[in-house]
Amino acid sequence: IRAAFSTVTDDRDEITGFITVISDVTEQEKIEQERREFVSNVSHELRTPLTTMKSYIEALTDGEWKNEEIAPRFLEVTQNETERMIRMVNDLLQLSKMDNKEQQLQKERSEFISLFHHIIDRFEMNVPEKITFIRELPNEKLFVYIDKDKLIQVIDNIISNAIKYSPEGGNIVCRVVKQRNQLLVSVSDEGMGIAYDKLEKIFERFYRVDKARTRKFGGTGLGLAISKELVEAHHGKIWAKSKEGKGTTILFTLPLMGKKRRYNV
Ligand code: ADP
Repeated sequence: IRAAFSTVTDDRDEITGFITVISDVTEQEKIEQERREFVSNVSHELRTPLTTMKSYIEALTDGEWKNEEIAPRFLEVTQNETERMIRMVNDLLQLSKMDNKEQQLQKERSEFISLFHHIIDRFEMNVPEKITFIRELPNEKLFVYIDKDKLIQVIDNIISNAIKYSPEGGNIVCRVVKQRNQLLVSVSDEGMGIAYDKLEKIFERFYRVDKARTRKFGGTGLGLAISKELVEAHHGKIWAKSKEGKGTTILFTLPLMGKKRRYNV
């Protein structure tokens, strides 16, 4: 809050009044600071893969291209970094569209439980055997008003993270609980967990608990930030619970559709 204070005087210089102007500049400054931080983050995030690629390409140009052992490895790194940059730029574009409210959600009445089963089935087919999915889903049809593709993106992000951080032989529990007028959806893993003071931060853009580690996994640090925007665009909330060393649970809510088919959610 900024306060400006001045006195009002008459022609004999005697004080006849005071003027105080109090303006709330904190919110504006906060937004401005966040914007600056964001631009700085984006630059850093893009510079890292670019410098890596530059040095690999230089080595190749300087003669390593002839080295049959090294050349394919260097090219592979370059390719992975390029792919990660493309993912990052796509994520950034999606966030920017959401910021500008350009992204229109294509919401429709959808049955959530079968959708969730379908997503888990897909993961089960591709995931290494070391991970077991446990489904705790109600045995009934529950309808929500959602943009299916976007909801799939949210759950994909959450489950991909759970897989990334799961130990060998870990279980991932996918649960849906029907509450009064909403669904509580959660995905729990048995991974390393997240420290209590970092639990909210993981939904911030570019935040990673361990930069080196997630970079190795090809993460962009934007997945959960996008998930948060998308869940909120569906009038839900998203948060995390964790016990360090024991595991993490990501939870989100979705309003249930009433029995009557109302579309004005
Ligand atoms: P990333 O692309 O790095 O995975 P996310 O936005 O999806 O970006 O996640 C942000 C950070 O939150 C991750 O880098 C990781 O440090 C932490 N995180 C997310 N999910 C989990 C989990 N299931 N277990 C432990 N840490 C997690």
